[in-house]
Amino acid sequence: MTDSAPFERTLVTSALPYANGHIHLGHIAGAYLPADIYVRYKRLKGEKVLYVGGSDEYGVPITLTALKEGVSPREVIDRYHAANADAFRRLGISYDIYGRTSWDLHVDTTQAFFRKLHDGGYVHAEEMELWYSEQSDRYLPDRYVKGTCPKCGYTDANGDECESCGAQYAPQALVEPRANIPGDDSRPILRKSRHWFLDLPRFADRLRAYLDGHPEWRDNARGIAYSWVNDLRARCITRDTDWGVPIPLDDPEAAAKRIYVWFDAPIGYVTNTRQWGIDVCGDASAWELWWKDPTTRMVHFIGKDNVPFHAVIFPAMLMGQEDYILADQVPANEYLNVFNRATGQAEKGSKSRGNMISVRWALEQFPADVIRYYLCAIAPESKDSAFDWDDFMHRYNGELCDVVGNFVHRSLTMTMKNFDGRVPEAPVFDAEDQAMLDAIPAQVDAVAEALEGFRFRQALERFIDLGRKANVYFDAKQPWVTRKTDLERTGTTLHVCCQVVKALCHAMIPFLPDGASTLSRILGVDLPQGGPDGGPDGWNAAKAPLPAGSPLGTPEVLFPKLDRDRIAELAEAHLRGEAF
Ligand SMILES: [Zn+2]
Repeated sequence: MTDSAPFERTLVTSALPYANGHIHLGHIAGAYLPADIYVRYKRLKGEKVLYVGGSDEYGVPITLTALKEGVSPREVIDRYHAANADAFRRLGISYDIYGRTSWDLHVDTTQAFFRKLHDGGYVHAEEMELWYSEQSDRYLPDRYVKGTCPKCGYTDANGDECESCGAQYAPQALVEPRANIPGDDSRPILRKSRHWFLDLPRFADRLRAYLDGHPEWRDNARGIAYSWVNDLRARCITRDTDWGVPIPLDDPEAAAKRIYVWFDAPIGYVTNTRQWGIDVCGDASAWELWWKDPTTRMVHFIGKDNVPFHAVIFPAMLMGQEDYILADQVPANEYLNVFNRATGQAEKGSKSRGNMISVRWALEQFPADVIRYYLCAIAPESKDSAFDWDDFMHRYNGELCDVVGNFVHRSLTMTMKNFDGRVPEAPVFDAEDQAMLDAIPAQVDAVAEALEGFRFRQALERFIDLGRKANVYFDAKQPWVTRKTDLERTGTTLHVCCQVVKALCHAMIPFLPDGASTLSRILGVDLPQGGPDGGPDGWNAAKAPLPAGSPLGTPEVLFPKLDRDRIAELAEAHLRGEAF
């Protein structure tokens, strides 16, 4: 599809995080903050938009955590689903629904997908040799077996992939295998087991045509997707486990196995849309408009590691259903690393290094807007970026506080003091006034253009640029000097400043919702909330003037500065591994 396609609504998804641990800032920068910025912008514009997310609650990492902790998988997912839903909410990630793949409804959706693919001849059974622990009397899928990587010799490699060199291999290729279950590190044997495979090669032509139709996707998504499509193999979609969606086949061998998590996880988007329709619209078929109507535009926000699933495998699964739409955009981010002050190097965030910053910890230290500002400013859109404490303080203090916060504050306090808290009259504009007023729609459009193109860093820069231009104007007009000699001139200057403040208020909503909410209260402007049904265009309303005489509330500091000593303390705590 191209821009000429007549889209009437947008379905936005963010990758479902595993309910197996706390979400961290790397996750947020990858798949959640950009999606939320996009959705908030669309809502403000009055477009129909639905934002769906949720927890991914099946899979080996969850059952392994449960085994290690001696609790049930249910206990693990309940704990982390609640924790992550709360972290997202407090960070302002504004889902219309945050669902769960453990819902009963998800069994129904997933089994319907499986059945349709099976009936269409896209799923077949095959005997395969898998590692089996005689001591525990069970198969050892994925991380249940460890060993030495056949490619690089790393001795803690997983059953089917090596975390050290990234190699993927058949389980039999693993060298020196050992069971990886609490109380069992015995040497496993290979045993035959029957599994079901999705016949991806049969979708090759359609997948290639799909990718060819999207030259506008980012290079990383296209590169990864094409390399998969050029080397498609049937993929096993079942596992020897009892934690997952049951296989809907009348086959005794299927009863002891479950559908594998990578198959059911993206179907979670469908399940959660169905649940949203039931809960919010009271209509069990409301979801179909969002998944089957060709005037719906679907956008998947993901991290780079999720490209194969969202640009190849899930589209194939949807093609096999026949009546579903496919994603029109798959904005995939690179990785957010962590700058290590001790070594002077950026390094990958990892649990074993203890260098990750959890969202819950970050929210104990800073307001949500502070975190959102920095993560958008350094968004890893085209290459990896790194969280760096010094950069964090300098960017936030130097850009958001000094440029936007400062301009808003001095404009509003001077208006308050000299014009009785009302937007002053402006009988005549001079050329500088007019240039500043003309910059408002130009800059607002520039932010919108970047957002429409999924360039969130650039959008934020253009927002800050409006603040920069406004400060230059303010300094040139010197209202603090003219107020002693020419009150009418001063009034005109501050009238123009109030117009910029109003535009900043609208334009900051997608990025900084708390600041926008405070500022809109001070300005007395109504910011429409929008949603799945659409609404008035509050984005372009940023360009409409705030009339002379409009009353203003008491100014507040929107973005308090970060203290250098406090940041140094937190950076030390992070280095000690206490930021999770
Ligand atoms: Zn390796």
